[in-house]
Amino acid sequence: MSKKTQRKAGAKESADLLIVNAEELLTLAGSQGKPRTGKEMRDVGIVRDGAVAIREGRIVGVGQTKDVTRAFRAGYVVSAQGKTVLPGFVDPHTHLVFAGSREDEFEMRVEGASYMEILGSGGGILKTVRETRRARVEKLVELGLERLDAMLAHGTTTVEAKSGYGLTTADELKILEATRRLNQLHSVNVVSTFMGANAVPPECRGSPDEFVELVLSEMIPRVAEKGLAEFCDVFCERGVFSLEQTKRVLVKGKAAGLKPKVHADQLSTLGGAEIAADIGAVSAEHLLFSSVEGVKALAKKGVIAVLLPAAAFSLMIGRYADARLMIDSGVPVALGTGFDASCWIENQQLVIAMACHFMRMTPAEAITAATVNAAYAVNRGDEVGTLEVGKRADVLVLSAPNHSFLGYRFGVNLVDKVVKNGRLVVDREKQDEPIFMSKTE
Ligand SMILES: [Zn+2]
Repeated sequence: MSKKTQRKAGAKESADLLIVNAEELLTLAGSQGKPRTGKEMRDVGIVRDGAVAIREGRIVGVGQTKDVTRAFRAGYVVSAQGKTVLPGFVDPHTHLVFAGSREDEFEMRVEGASYMEILGSGGGILKTVRETRRARVEKLVELGLERLDAMLAHGTTTVEAKSGYGLTTADELKILEATRRLNQLHSVNVVSTFMGANAVPPECRGSPDEFVELVLSEMIPRVAEKGLAEFCDVFCERGVFSLEQTKRVLVKGKAAGLKPKVHADQLSTLGGAEIAADIGAVSAEHLLFSSVEGVKALAKKGVIAVLLPAAAFSLMIGRYADARLMIDSGVPVALGTGFDASCWIENQQLVIAMACHFMRMTPAEAITAATVNAAYAVNRGDEVGTLEVGKRADVLVLSAPNHSFLGYRFGVNLVDKVVKNGRLVVDREKQDEPIFMSKTE
């Protein structure tokens, strides 16, 4: 070995940022290009006294602090002593862009009105459709930015956003245009899903097939031509869109390059899981009422089950998806907020807590579901969801000594720091003035 090479081997590589001395660092690494299933979901890749090195927005080193600091030096070093470091959360199911709110219906639901009763009386999604149609694209962007801020503050660094509160070609395009701008303006990455078939609009009431024709002949071609979405989703439900209509929309979307997703078996056992498997959907979402056969079909085809315990919580029917059956059957399970106008939640930490409490997922399974598996549910598994060399540096530092605190301690924000694309974008240590200090003057 020449002198020059020797010196090079001993020299430290430079990095922009080092996070060191994490009590627990969760890599979630090693899923080999696919989401985790079964017992793998319990392996979050714990490194004690862990560190991560970041350069130009990418992870360049990860492992034990002594090894990472031997290999890298950086001008900026963050201590994560006593804390947990993990990949930024991916939220694979939201309806991010809408105007107005539905707190009045929330009160009705508290008093016992069902989701379908409210929808049948012109409320529910249809109320949000009216308010969203009236809003200009600039207003929708402004509202979306506030929501993305709240999501980022709680540790979400990639989010999927579905359209579906427009239900005319122009209004659906307006929502997708707002989504596109949000992705450009905000540091959170926004993945776009076209969901024109979210409800039958009032002008097509009584003739849902006519509306499906509009989705097929006008909306999908325009969305695809403008490159405004990556996925196509349908609300497959009794009284909304049938199995046959769902299939028609998703087949057409697939032909136009939009990968299929399905809102399946949320309110009844209709066979939505089976249709998702049949069509080769990337994901089936909600799944509160899926049959055992439906779950088996998802496992067989490797369709990701995106479970939304907060959405089930907000339905107030005391029922949750059977996550245990799904995991034990080999279905890759992901977790999302289900954020929308009736389920207003920006916090994936609370979703993890709900998954543990209501669906008996272990904290490790829930973390896997909200990071690496959620990344695969939005086709970003090669980019985010784990802490591995080469991946985008979306990293969380939590004020928690170990990962079980996600789930165990709930209702407060455990985020201490968020690093997004290698930049420190949330730092609560700097932002929070301790309240008791003001009393000692
Ligand atoms: Zn939804």
